[in-house]
Amino acid sequence: MSSSAPASIPASRFGHADRLSCRECGQTYELGAHHACAECFGPLEVGYDYPSLSRESITAGPPSIWRYASLLPVPSDVATRPNTEPGFTRLVRADRLANALGMRTLWVKDERANPTHSFKDRVVAVALAAALEMGHKVLACPSTGNLANAVAAAAARAGIRSVVLIPAGLEPQKIIATAVYGGTMVLVDGTYDDVNRLASELADDREDWAFVNVNVRPYYAEGSKTIGFEIAEQLGWRLPEQIVVPVASGAQLVKIDKAFRELAALGLVDDTPCRVFGAQASGCAPVAAAFRAGHDVVQPVRPDTIARSLAIGNPADGPYVLDVTRRTGGAVADVTDDEIVAAIGLLATTEGVFGETAAGVTLATTRRLLETGQLDPEAETVIINSGDGLKTLDAAGLNPEVRPIRPTLEAFAEFESSVPPRKAADA
Ligand SMILES: *Cc1c(COP(=O)(O)O)cnc(C)c1O
Ligand SMILES: [Zn+2]
Repeated sequence: MSSSAPASIPASRFGHADRLSCRECGQTYELGAHHACAECFGPLEVGYDYPSLSRESITAGPPSIWRYASLLPVPSDVATRPNTEPGFTRLVRADRLANALGMRTLWVKDERANPTHSFKDRVVAVALAAALEMGHKVLACPSTGNLANAVAAAAARAGIRSVVLIPAGLEPQKIIATAVYGGTMVLVDGTYDDVNRLASELADDREDWAFVNVNVRPYYAEGSKTIGFEIAEQLGWRLPEQIVVPVASGAQLVKIDKAFRELAALGLVDDTPCRVFGAQASGCAPVAAAFRAGHDVVQPVRPDTIARSLAIGNPADGPYVLDVTRRTGGAVADVTDDEIVAAIGLLATTEGVFGETAAGVTLATTRRLLETGQLDPEAETVIINSGDGLKTLDAAGLNPEVRPIRPTLEAFAEFESSVPPRKAADA
């Protein structure tokens, strides 16, 4: 991490970001719309000439991800431009859930309150701000669903065109929640990995299109740091001892760890250890498999799980997830679709939080890691609810009692005696 810069440095189009550097060989490049190293094809990451920052200067900022704008590759007046203003979501103290799991202190970072109801609004807002600086005219993406929602909404707000490519088998809720924003929606016959390959080919062809998670991926990925920044701020400028994060491409997990290290290096939090854990669905668990086998590389799989938002069979950040979890003393594990459904119910009945399948994956994996003794039940823990259950209704596994009653007290009494009261937390 580089030294702090004097406050007199003029604000650039990308704030304090000053380079792209290769995560494999360290080669540096000027900021621009590239994502792979010309020397070794390794992925590029945004680097900064870090400013000196105080907690006060951050808390005086807007109640959105832009309070951390000086740690993002965005122009310094980003908060004045049309964007979706994501972030600043609740960190819910989850005592009843902790009790059900036998844990001491548990928090849920609840990403449902973002503009399109998932954490993807964070990464898209940063990608959009950077893409406009680079002169892109179209915002595009291959998506497992939530990203399509976020891209279509952000492009609508900025008044530019969006083009989203999604696998044809997606949840209808996610398709509708993309179509409503206008833009071009393309359903592709194939898996997400097929869609992603098509997008990469298109990105080579359409230079003025910003594919948020392809050619402008280094900027996009930085947006996930804001989850880590907010968690630390909301804990009173501390790091948790453990965190459990869902893994699709793996960028979110890797960037939350980067956020914690940046805050510590800037002296905004004490440099206390945080063990980082990754959660996957067994029907798409290439990173968990590599973790268990002790491998450094991730063997691609063909996804088959209800957790479609996490169904990336060939995750771009997989090897870095292995690095982070091993370095911090964490782990990556996976859970079955039945366990995912049960965990969606447990989160809802204990905390009143209806998360999507990715939340079920994260909570069920937390449960599994407690059983195996890899998570410490005594340590302060944060789990991420990255999306909204209303977008994956079919997966909740509920078949509600729909038999109507007559509008009389007798009918109600009869109903009550025939239906056992539903107890919270018996999911
Ligand atoms: C995309 C997504 C993730 C995973 O994000 P990655 O950064 O690709 O690992 C987790 N949860 C939800 C709801 C998502 O949409
Ligand atoms: Zn390189």
